[in-house]
Amino acid sequence: MKFSTSDLTILRIRCSKCGQHTEKIVTVLVRKDAIPCMTCGSRISLSTPTNKILIAETAASCARVGEALIKGLALA
Ligand SMILES: [Zn+2]
Repeated sequence: MKFSTSDLTILRIRCSKCGQHTEKIVTVLVRKDAIPCMTCGSRISLSTPTNKILIAETAASCARVGEALIKGLALA
């Protein structure tokens, strides 16, 4: 059984236009190329080098936490 905490984990992505952060769950960020900024409405690209790494590493971390939870619950 595979379990990831991507549905439970929020990542903040910075808007390059206004500098404010927009929060989304990791599941959504993994699937999209861009999200709208919650403050100014401009398009925030998720395929910039920084955002790509942020999202990929966070998704990997969510998968590891999911595994740890499965293991931990199985032992309890
Ligand atoms: Zn903005």
